[in-house]
Parts: sequence; structure tokens; C-alpha cells
Amino acid sequence: MAINWIETEIIEHKRWTDVLASLKFKGKVQPYTAGQFTKVGLKIDGELISRPYSYVSSPNDDFLEIVYVKVPDGKLTPALSDLNVGDKLFAMEKASGFFVMSEVPDGEDLWMLATGTGLGVFISLLKTKEPWDRFRNIVLVHGVRAADELTYKTQIDDFTSSFGERFSYIPTVTREKKDGCLNLRIPAGLKNKDFQKIAKLDITKKSQVMICGNPDMINDTVKLLEKDGLERNRRSKPGNITLEKYW
Ligand SMILES: Cc1cc2nc3c(=O)[nH]c(=O)nc-3n(C[C@H](O)[C@H](O)[C@H](O)COP(=O)(O)OP(=O)(O)OC[C@H]3O[C@@H](n4cnc5c(N)ncnc54)[C@H](O)[C@@H]3O)c2cc1C
Repeated sequence: MAINWIETEIIEHKRWTDVLASLKFKGKVQPYTAGQFTKVGLKIDGELISRPYSYVSSPNDDFLEIVYVKVPDGKLTPALSDLNVGDKLFAMEKASGFFVMSEVPDGEDLWMLATGTGLGVFISLLKTKEPWDRFRNIVLVHGVRAADELTYKTQIDDFTSSFGERFSYIPTVTREKKDGCLNLRIPAGLKNKDFQKIAKLDITKKSQVMICGNPDMINDTVKLLEKDGLERNRRSKPGNITLEKYW
């Protein structure tokens, strides 16, 4: 189906590190659901180059937001990185995707496992009421290589203030030691039960697990969870594991 492109305007470009940044922009896109992605694009050498990005913003926000990593030799992200406030960016009029709460079956507790920029989609989901209304406890695990990639801490602190013991945030940094953070990959943290101990929750067939980010992390995590009897969630057969791969 042909994409209807909307011209939007950059209102903020927050640089977390040399290669990791968030873009806020404004434009008349159609209402979307938390967890969906848009495509953003730029004219490069006369051709519109676009890629999908999950919204970090939530439907109630009065701005649109994505978080991206500048991929060396990437076709789009080096150009995104050059954008300044006031510059134009094309975005899809209508968002897409099924990594949304209505696709996640009911359960007792909700685990959200993210690496890198995969955190963004969970920020969008957690800004809405639905996960909090439907699940007793929520655990957000964010895996990054370096501590300066632990983004959206202010927003995460707001969730902690609002939901107290119902919410656990577990940052894990693989390539350096950092106070207050674990120092292992997400599959290792699940296998050792380090995450479960910190959250004081087990992962059982009554849990729902959403996973987003690096495909190796996703594949390894799914294999582990399947060993414990959890199953991929499919429309034809509801399960416990809902995922979104970025590449
Ligand atoms: C549904 C969906 C949602 C996505 N949401 C996001 C998002 O919120 N944020 C985001 O940064 N990317 C996201 N992506 C990936 C994004 O669409 C692009 O692939 C990425 O930004 C690279 O674009 P590029 O043109 O610069 O690189 P390309 O020339 O297209 O090179 C692609 C290569 O870049 C690498 N790569 C792609 N994405 C990432 C990443 N996030 N972190 C590290 N390496 C990566 C992989 O090696 C991939 O093979 C999403 C992809 C999908 C399918």
C-alpha cells in the first residue's frame, strides 16, 4: 500500500551520546496506538530514504518522538543525526505495527525486556494506563553496552514514583561496571534468575513477556523462556512471549 507522507518539523534533538539520540517532532499524523511504529524519511540525493522507528511518545503527548542509533554507513541514520531544530522530516501519516497492549494476552505480571533503542517502545507503552490497569506488577529490564546508553531515566523515575513496588527497573550494562547496574546480557540475567531475585517475581506461564531490540538477544531469550514452557504469542494461538525485532 502506498505510504502517505506528512512533512513534520523537528522541535528537539536530544543527543544522549555521540551516536544515540532522540528526535521530537510535530506534524499532522493520524492518531496512533502506543507500541506502534512510524517510518521517518529524508530526501537524500533526490530519493526519499525511510526506515521504521517505534514511537517513544504516547498518544496523549502533544509531540511525536523516536530514539535512534546512528549506524556507521547506514543509509538514513547519519542524515538523521545532522538534523537541527526547525528542519523537516517526513513521517508516515498512519502508524503501523502490532507490538501493542491489545495483542498481549492477560497475565499476572508483565516483563518488558529491551536492549538499546528497544527501550523506547516500552516508554510509550508505560506512559499509557493499559499495562498498569491489566498487570499486577511490571518489570522493565534495559540492557546496554555502556552506562551512558541508559536513556529516559527521568521518565522511568516517574513510573517508580507513580507505581512504587508494582514497578521494577533493572538496568544492565555489559561492557563496563556501573554502580546500581548489573553487568550481564539479558539472557544470562534470566538464566541466573538475577532479574527474578531483584524483582522478587518468578517468570511463569502466568507471566507475559514483551521483548524488543537486538535480534540475538531476542532469539536467545525466547529459547530460554521456551525451555520453561512459555510460548510465542500468536494471533492464532495466544502465548506468553510477544516480540519486535529491529533488524
Ligand atoms: C518495526 C521496527 C521498528 C524499529 N524501531 C527502531 C527504533 O525505535 N530505533 C532504532 O534505532 N531503530 C529502529 N528500527 C531499525 C531502523 O528501522 C533502521 O534499521 C536503523 O535505524 C538503521 O537505518 P539506516 O538506514 O541508518 O541503516 P541501514 O543502511 O538500513 O543498515 C541496517 C543495519 O543497521 C543495524 N541496525 C539497525 N537498527 C539498529 C539499532 N536500533 N541499533 C543498532 N544497530 C542497528 C543492523 O546491523 C542493520 O542490519 C526499527 C526497525 C523495525 C523493523
